[in-house]
Amino acid sequence: MPTSQAQRLVVTDGDGAWLTTSDGRRLLDATASLWHANVGHGRERIARAAYEQMRRLETYHVFGRFANEPALDLADRLADLGPVQGGRVMLTSGGSDSVDLACKLVRRHWQLEGRPEKTVVVSRETAYHGLHGFGTSIAGLPYNREGYGSASLVPETLRIPAHDLGAALAQLDAFGTDRVAAIILEPVIGTGGVFGPVEGYLEGLQAFAQERDVLLVVDEVITGFGRTGVMFASERYALEPDLVLMAKGLTSGYAPLGAVLVAPRVADRFFDGDDAPMFRHGLTYSGHATACAVAHANLDVLEEEGLVERAAHLEKVLADAVQPLADHPLVHEVRAGAGFLAGVQVVDEVKGDDVAQECVRRGVLTRTIHANTLQICPPFVTTEDEVRLVATTVADALDTF
Ligand code: PLP
Repeated sequence: MPTSQAQRLVVTDGDGAWLTTSDGRRLLDATASLWHANVGHGRERIARAAYEQMRRLETYHVFGRFANEPALDLADRLADLGPVQGGRVMLTSGGSDSVDLACKLVRRHWQLEGRPEKTVVVSRETAYHGLHGFGTSIAGLPYNREGYGSASLVPETLRIPAHDLGAALAQLDAFGTDRVAAIILEPVIGTGGVFGPVEGYLEGLQAFAQERDVLLVVDEVITGFGRTGVMFASERYALEPDLVLMAKGLTSGYAPLGAVLVAPRVADRFFDGDDAPMFRHGLTYSGHATACAVAHANLDVLEEEGLVERAAHLEKVLADAVQPLADHPLVHEVRAGAGFLAGVQVVDEVKGDDVAQECVRRGVLTRTIHANTLQICPPFVTTEDEVRLVATTVADALDTF
């Protein structure tokens, strides 16, 4: 569309936290592409894993009784790694796929429980859960949901306040939880502007869900695989999800892949005897063998190089580096300290997009997300000096307005 064409930026090469563009500029990737390049760009080892898998078998589908080895191994690995005991994994092609699968599965769960009225999926205002049919329907950012002819594509949805627990619970009470299948949430809101959880909010919502027979779906598409300094944010915030959604950091973007980890409470019935019910869901590329081989190599890198611990360390470095920006007259708020990510909200009088452009001109690639906020979530391999360079570049860019 014309708005983006006029400012197109074509990235041609990547190495660690650095990018090269088609016009020969070298840029520090302060957004890890779209929150996913966690192990950094240009990893020979991951490329080789893809090559070797493709030479052997590019993929074989995983419908019905068919399977391929990288997919089976990865499902087991994720079940062990994830924040759910005894869970089972379904593989998808990305985050939006994981969201759609989860929203179907929670509804299927309640149908089979004999509670067919429980169909509503509740999400938080400003939430982002991808842009497939369900993701669009549960979007907390109205502009992603509206414009398709009804309030949402899938009618059975409800949005609750994102930070005010009392108001959220009051709304759920008034609505009636007997109709609610699940609450879905990002532990740290990403695209909505980088908001860590307000003390007590996630715990309160979880306790409420457990009391009222509502499933909890934790969307770890951004937070999963180390972004909050532990493997999954559910660990950091003591969440006990019924479903965990994964993508992005699962492969660090080296191949499109997602996963849904399902707790025994929901999964077990589908394995219970010869007449167990079916969950009819699958995609040609669910469990794509090459993507799964890439995921294995990516997770090996993450573990062997201690990159999750490194992200935990860099969280503090980043928070310290961006905090002084809060005093800048053109900054409304700085949000950091809920992982190795930060949001710098620019005052309404200045377009965040213009500030982001100025940062790019000065060699640091960032972009704006919701609430006129600059997104900062570099790869975990970024050095401390580079993290500080991001913050000083934002400050210098702001000074030009
Ligand atoms: N959920 C969250 C929290 C996301 O941030 C995203 C993408 O940014 C998605 C889901 C959708 O993932 P994908 O773009 O891979 O479909």
